[in-house]
Amino acid sequence: MASHVFGPVPSRRLGRSLGVDLIPFKTCTYDCIYCQLGRTTQKTLDREEWVPLDEVLGEVQASLSSRPDYITLSGSGEPTLYSRLGELIAGIKRMTEVPVAVLTNGSLLSDPEVRAGVAEADLVIPSLDAGDARIFRHVNRPHEDLDFDTMIEGLVALGREHPGSIWLEVFLLAGVTAISAEVETIAGIVRRIGPERVQLNTATRPPAESFAFPVPQDQMERLAVAFGDHAEVIADYRGTHQQGEFAAHREDVLELLRRRPCTVGDISEGLGLHRNEVVKYVEELTGEGTIVAEDSGGKVYYKALASAERSR
Ligand code: SF4
Repeated sequence: MASHVFGPVPSRRLGRSLGVDLIPFKTCTYDCIYCQLGRTTQKTLDREEWVPLDEVLGEVQASLSSRPDYITLSGSGEPTLYSRLGELIAGIKRMTEVPVAVLTNGSLLSDPEVRAGVAEADLVIPSLDAGDARIFRHVNRPHEDLDFDTMIEGLVALGREHPGSIWLEVFLLAGVTAISAEVETIAGIVRRIGPERVQLNTATRPPAESFAFPVPQDQMERLAVAFGDHAEVIADYRGTHQQGEFAAHREDVLELLRRRPCTVGDISEGLGLHRNEVVKYVEELTGEGTIVAEDSGGKVYYKALASAERSR
């Protein structure tokens, strides 16, 4: 039986996060140029029960002994494409008091049914990466039937109605949105949404497209001022150093990459870890300069650096 639950994995924002993956790999409403999971393979707006609800609930129940800080609906695609999201969250809430978070790109929130679904969650973390339709198309490469203004109205409606917390993530890219005028426009929209926190991120890890460039940390800190007191830069510039179970998996990944270069898929298969979990370890190792990413034949391979190479 395929596993839809992974971790807990270390999360900068959510502590020990038990991940729930409801959507087939890279099935999304967007195809963001900065996506760490590569290009979208299935761009769709069709909401379906991609995996059986009872199966997912059973897996969550079986994983609760791992004592996560959060149960996070995210995974390798857009979780609001799961048609029974509200029922799923309600089912989780019946079995545990562990808070539930939904990480969403926000594209479907103009649909009242989607908002009713995420209303069950304690925390919603939607994204907003553009201040107008042109940048939206460039950065997020949305499904052709998605309209920028409608997407924004969905976020504003979420801000008005959601009974729990909203932390809005804004992903900035050098030369595209990390420009004062663009940031001011985005900040104006953020004020209409009214999230509890604004979290600024950038492409510090290998993106889907080589033309998606990260914003330096000092510039991010300067740009954050436009979003007010409740804004913080969450981009991970140095990698994190985790302990215990996380460190053990991280070492397994590193050991494998010392033997041969691998894609995220190779590592996931080789070690029996979920792709999203692998992405976390690869992020950390790349951040600290222990491994590097190389493009070969359109695929991203990771390889371990010898200590002499690392000290250069
Ligand atoms: S970053 Fe998120 S929203 Fe964008 S393509 Fe990747 S999975 Fe979809």
